Amino acid sequence: MAPPEPRITPFSSPVRRDETASRLRQPVASLWGVGAERAARLARLGIFTVEDLLLHRPRRYEDRRHFKKISELAKGEPATARGHIVAQGLKRFRGGSKSVFELVLDDGSARLHCRWWNLPFMERYFAVGDEVFVFGRLVETRPRTMDHPETEVLEGGEESFIHLARIAPVYPLTEGLPQRWLRGLVWRTLEKFEAQILEPEWAVEACRSPVTKSGSPGETHPATFPSRANAVHRIHFPEEIADVEIARRRLALDEFVELQRQIQSRRRRFQASARGLPCGGDNRLMKPFLARLGFNLTGAQAKVLREIRADLGGAHPMRRLLQGDVGSGKTVVAACTALMALEGGFNAALMAPTEILAAQHFRNFSRWFEPLGVKVELQSGNTKTSGSAPPPHAGLFIGTHALIESGFDIPRLGLVIIDEQHKFGVAQRERLVRKGNYPHLLVMTATPIPRTLGLTLYGDLDVSLIDESPPDRGRVKTFVRATDKLPLVWKFIREQLAAGRQAFVVYPRVEDQDTANDVKAVTRELENVRRALAPFHVGLLHGRMKGAEKEAVMAGFRANQVRALVATALVEVGVDVPNATVLLVENAERFGLVQLHQLRGRIGRAARESFCILISDAKNEEARRRLKILEETTDGFKIAEADLKLRGPGELLGRLQSGAPKFRFGNLAEDLDLIRRARELATQVVGDGAPSSAAHPALKK
Ligand code: ADP
Ligand code: MG
Repeated sequence: MAPPEPRITPFSSPVRRDETASRLRQPVASLWGVGAERAARLARLGIFTVEDLLLHRPRRYEDRRHFKKISELAKGEPATARGHIVAQGLKRFRGGSKSVFELVLDDGSARLHCRWWNLPFMERYFAVGDEVFVFGRLVETRPRTMDHPETEVLEGGEESFIHLARIAPVYPLTEGLPQRWLRGLVWRTLEKFEAQILEPEWAVEACRSPVTKSGSPGETHPATFPSRANAVHRIHFPEEIADVEIARRRLALDEFVELQRQIQSRRRRFQASARGLPCGGDNRLMKPFLARLGFNLTGAQAKVLREIRADLGGAHPMRRLLQGDVGSGKTVVAACTALMALEGGFNAALMAPTEILAAQHFRNFSRWFEPLGVKVELQSGNTKTSGSAPPPHAGLFIGTHALIESGFDIPRLGLVIIDEQHKFGVAQRERLVRKGNYPHLLVMTATPIPRTLGLTLYGDLDVSLIDESPPDRGRVKTFVRATDKLPLVWKFIREQLAAGRQAFVVYPRVEDQDTANDVKAVTRELENVRRALAPFHVGLLHGRMKGAEKEAVMAGFRANQVRALVATALVEVGVDVPNATVLLVENAERFGLVQLHQLRGRIGRAARESFCILISDAKNEEARRRLKILEETTDGFKIAEADLKLRGPGELLGRLQSGAPKFRFGNLAEDLDLIRRARELATQVVGDGAPSSAAHPALKK
């Protein structure tokens, strides 16, 4: 593989830059050969401007310099063949309602049959004597047959070199857009516009400073990347397949830098405009609180609290993400943070993702704070005391996120704490940040966020990490078992219950799904579990239950009257019942690893040994391997990295994806080095604390 040519094209003046940028932003319809109809079809692919077209990423590439002979095609392997049509025909059957269209190709070595079912109009596209490419896999060898292959008719003419004897891009298409036409359009557009694709600010800036600050090895130094124009060219028409990845990384870097630039300038603007409320605290409440707590803070908790205290007394409102694995003791940190604000004479709000969790926090905080003379109030859907404004001087308000979304106004709000951030979503956080008088913000999450995602999703937050568990924690042993072992598992759980312990039994869904009868519905399963665990009392908890019902069941479980709790994944977040030592998860393969890890955090909360049993009949090797990871490690970060690799970022962050950035070229699971580099590069452009115009003269004006 030839090294990429280091080529950064400096631009001459900001004026020319704006001009060329606007040319790339012309509508595609302005291109020769694109009428209103084709423009409408391109729009369906998200292509509106010339730039969109140039960044339309090929779905795959076809090396048309070398072909397999038809006689060499192997069954089941995707391959491209090329041949002349020697016969074609449409057969109709079932009274004409069904059809099969068939082509027979010959390349001199053998014949290939291509079939399309129920697409009679295919007939129109081909004629005997045409030469065609087909891409697909053999489903039969006698005769050699492909079903529904992708095809492209070779045409002569002056443009044929675009499609032949090269590595040809194959694009995502939509109905009515021929592959060949789109490829020709991209080619012609590149010819016309490639020279106008300029280097972004950061690249120009980076080339002026020859050595990278971080001292990271040359790999991500800007000079080792091709120019943006060259990368755009290569992503469509690479000389070698290896070019594609080189080009992709360059274009991904541009995306990451742009995102980091936005994050950093937003942060700068925020810091320039928002003054921090003085919430540093004087220990008046904290001292007695810690004295009565019954345990000492871990080193990690104390360290994080020092970071938080510095923020609360600082010039700008705190924007901090607190990461700590399940059971690491984030709640106590939240309590101390709230006390600092309260000492400063401000009110504080704590938001939880579910009512159960809000109620649990309410109980803990009341117990902790009322002896200190601090009022704690619960505000959530069912328990809202009244619609009117809260009494003044109430100290801590606890609720679900509805608390903030309902426009509920808290006077002298100095601090907002969001527990279990991953259930809230970036968009919601943004809304919250904009609200009110810039209270300090502490976001807590037990989702171990891999660094790549952290830097992109939470790049605007400072991060604190609780990397140490409270002492005297029992180990959690994890086992993956097939359903045929269930009788033994139930016996084991009965023994645990007989010894005074409690158990969670978790199912994936609330309601029956008639499409997937292997999904056991929790309501129906309740009877089975009752039978399996008789005579012990088994309770039920799921998301469709009324708040009061849920609270009653949880109260029974906390009091150890309900001995086992059959639940949906609802229990995942934050529920703290230290006496529970068994977690049984059915259909475990349906959960993400991170979610299972969090479920597992429900047990092992006291000194006793606990047991997590994952039941799965997943036949597929990959699903089993995934679950094995949980048997092997309890390190949340390792689990999250593995989940990210195996299932992609969407799964990991589940419901919060709405706010996650989308990349054409960037890959959050692979591009950690680029994301790190992008962060540094963006800092050079935005400026380190200085107003952005000082860092780059071209940005002045
Ligand atoms: P999470 O980080 O998952 O929210 P919690 O805050 O619910 O964890 O803490 C889990 C359990 O550990 C709670 O019962 C809490 O009282 C206890 N705990 C927290 N900090 C300590 C500590 N420093 N020493 C002993 N136990 C602690
Ligand atoms: Mg918690």
